[in-house]
Amino acid sequence: MANRGILVVVSGFSGAGKGTLMKHLLEKYDNYALSISATTRAPREGEEHGREYFFHTKQEFEELILQDALIEYAQYVENYYGTPKAYVEKQLEAGKDVILEIEIQGALKVKEKFPDTLLLFVTPPSAEELKRRLINRGTETKEVIDSRLRRASEEAKGMPLYDYILINDDLEECVDTMHEVIQSQHNKSSNN
Ligand code: 5GP
Repeated sequence: MANRGILVVVSGFSGAGKGTLMKHLLEKYDNYALSISATTRAPREGEEHGREYFFHTKQEFEELILQDALIEYAQYVENYYGTPKAYVEKQLEAGKDVILEIEIQGALKVKEKFPDTLLLFVTPPSAEELKRRLINRGTETKEVIDSRLRRASEEAKGMPLYDYILINDDLEECVDTMHEVIQSQHNKSSNN
């Protein structure tokens, strides 16, 4: 039977490039599974139900909470986001390392429930670059960009709670560093 996988939380400012990073990590290495979250936010152009997120109404989301179907959930800029339990459990059992791309409140809840979770924080190389990436993405209104930037300065306070901070300057380098850090956590777990 395969060894059980480990849980890896990846947080970072909106616009830090986490989505692209995850995509490249999954393409390059085959031991990872990416959890797909449930959310009440509206799909962005090009996003599909069951691919980027499971898009739900507020009422449906509250049903998931009542059914205890989520490992954690949090509110972020007026929407709910949460991690469905069943998929994560199945992938861990199959020996995959499961990546949760979630914000800090959720990250801390997961760490509390599963203390072996590896917490990674991804940041662009500077605040200027963060702003540039958010604007260039072109998917959000100015109001949403502003509230995401305010949220980023709040989240920066939580960075010291993470196990590693990864600077996403060179994408491929960041992918490889992330892989090495996760693998070294495996070695630590198996030595315990
Ligand atoms: P976005 O709307 O840009 O896709 O995501 C907004 C924030 O919600 C990001 O910081 C993202 O990591 C976080 N997020 C996505 N899914 C989840 C989840 O399942 N739980 C929590 N706590 N945060 C999530």
